[in-house]
Amino acid sequence: MASIKLIGVVGAGQMGAGIAQVVATSKLQAVLADVDSSALNRGMKSIRSSLARFVSKGSLSQEESDATLSRIQMTVSLNDLSDADLVIEAVPESEELKKRIFSELDRIVKPSAILASNTSSISITRIASFTQRPQQVVGMHFMNPPPLMKLVESIRGLQTDEAVFNTVCDLARRLGKTVTCSRDYPGFVVNRILMPMINEAFIALQEGVATAEDIDMGMKLGTNQPMGPLTLADFIGLDTCLAIMRVLHHGLGDSKYRPCPLLVQYVDAGWLGRKTGRGVYSYRSAL
Ligand code: NAD
Repeated sequence: MASIKLIGVVGAGQMGAGIAQVVATSKLQAVLADVDSSALNRGMKSIRSSLARFVSKGSLSQEESDATLSRIQMTVSLNDLSDADLVIEAVPESEELKKRIFSELDRIVKPSAILASNTSSISITRIASFTQRPQQVVGMHFMNPPPLMKLVESIRGLQTDEAVFNTVCDLARRLGKTVTCSRDYPGFVVNRILMPMINEAFIALQEGVATAEDIDMGMKLGTNQPMGPLTLADFIGLDTCLAIMRVLHHGLGDSKYRPCPLLVQYVDAGWLGRKTGRGVYSYRSAL
């Protein structure tokens, strides 16, 4: 555990940027990598505004915020992760893409390095099989947004070494998180339960049971959730929600996990939620 000092994060989207921020706030060095330099700039912008909110609330000093930023390096090349002790992958929820990234990382990082995936649903055992070090591959599922959400769901692949698993759990605690352990099953625990609820909210919307606003208000006030399921889906990203439903449907083989056609249609239209300015709701003014 003491050996983890430098952490690479791949993907500077909503999760990757937030994870890099959490790492750097905990006084560890982070290297944030993305193929797209504008995504890196957007990621750093979101880190700066999140830190500024902590400073304005008084929970972080300006000096701590500056020091946190100085601990984050950006790169468009995975080769710059060669010295990392741990790499946390947070690229989109596509098995093909994760396969490419893990086999590339496996060639680049040192033999002792641990490779973690922030996947919401894809099998850790299968991701591990894309490398020559399956015993050093683990699931480290942060919640969105990582700087605010307290949970890390840790997932053991079939071949994950127990010491590696414990190292990653200890690290998550050092990052200020509470850790739960899940077996490597489609969607693990959190998304196995959350996504069917979101999918059902889309089905209710598609069937005209109520307006989006009333579905959200009903679930928010009726079940004491901080936000309704459709608002949450826009926040997570509809592409991510659909990808998770497909993993549940395919992996568990039960028609109850069939993705709602309206959700599929929104994703086909490019309505991915907050990140594209349009999902169930419109966010044009927020972009
Ligand atoms: P996102 O679309 O916001 O960001 C993904 C980033 O990966 C983008 O910046 C993209 O440019 C980058 N990327 C794409 N291909 C790449 C490559 N080849 N190399 C390096 N970077 C690349 O996605 P997100 O919402 O941050 O989700 C990332 C992962 O985290 C997914 O596996 C998702 O399932 C998981 N996750 C998401 C949430 C959520 O609420 N959104 C919560 C927990 C876990």
